[in-house]
Amino acid sequence: GPRVVLEQLSKRYPGGTLAVDEVSLDIAGGQFVALVGASGSGKSTLLKMINRLIEPTGGSIAIGDEVMDALPAHELRRRIGYVFQNVGLFPHMTVGENVSIGMRLRRQKQSRERVAELLELVELPRAAADRMPAALSGGQRQRVGFARALATEPKLMLMDEPFGALDPVTRDALVKEYRALHERLGLTTIMVTHDMAEALLLAERVLVMKGGHIVADSTPHGMLTGE
Ligand code: ADP
Ligand code: ADP
Repeated sequence: GPRVVLEQLSKRYPGGTLAVDEVSLDIAGGQFVALVGASGSGKSTLLKMINRLIEPTGGSIAIGDEVMDALPAHELRRRIGYVFQNVGLFPHMTVGENVSIGMRLRRQKQSRERVAELLELVELPRAAADRMPAALSGGQRQRVGFARALATEPKLMLMDEPFGALDPVTRDALVKEYRALHERLGLTTIMVTHDMAEALLLAERVLVMKGGHIVADSTPHGMLTGE
């Protein structure tokens, strides 16, 4: 996946809140980074600026060789996978339709075979394509969310509390599977979580956010030993 470089990135909301305060960060291509912090520390704002769901009020973001400002937002988002907590599947569409909606919007070849491949990638049976989201468990729905995010073959994945709504057993299974997917597909992953244990388990680099600043930046080993 691409390298991601943030330079003095800031967001001040219209109300006056400085949610992200001149954050500079260099994430190597292929790295798995967790962004940890209490509610309100600025994690979601930072993540959403990277795929331009939120416009920065200062600083810059570069993804790979391209300066993000040069790309229209829709062009940028097709190259970024985004997974969030409550998945947001369309309830009136089948699983297959939900997975292929990204392909349709992005004019990619759309076929049952491709949907089946994506479902298998996230360890769901092919037959799940014809089911409705309401008929699935929470863990299965989250898998569909991953399949949909991967449908455009992004190399950068942004995830906001992707495992937060799951029971511990389902969560542990999905966490391990995602870690393997990250390696296998050569992704760069930036995951937001308020759960330090999850961050230490999954990520190779842990960033701690507080009051709009990155206050710690270390490996899981370093976090645990204070080195
Ligand atoms: P986190 O993801 O760590 O919980 P957020 O990025 O959601 O933090 O929020 C950071 C700060 O910005 C908080 O003080 C929050 O209330 C504020 N904030 C977030 N979104 C908005 C918004 N749309 N308008 C105004 N303030 C916001
Ligand atoms: P989370 O941080 O888990 O996304 P929140 O309840 O903090 O959940 O925020 C939900 C939504 O409301 C987010 O899209 C966030 O940007 C927005 N938001 C958060 N704080 C504020 C705020 N003070 N004013 C306006 N919108 C906000």
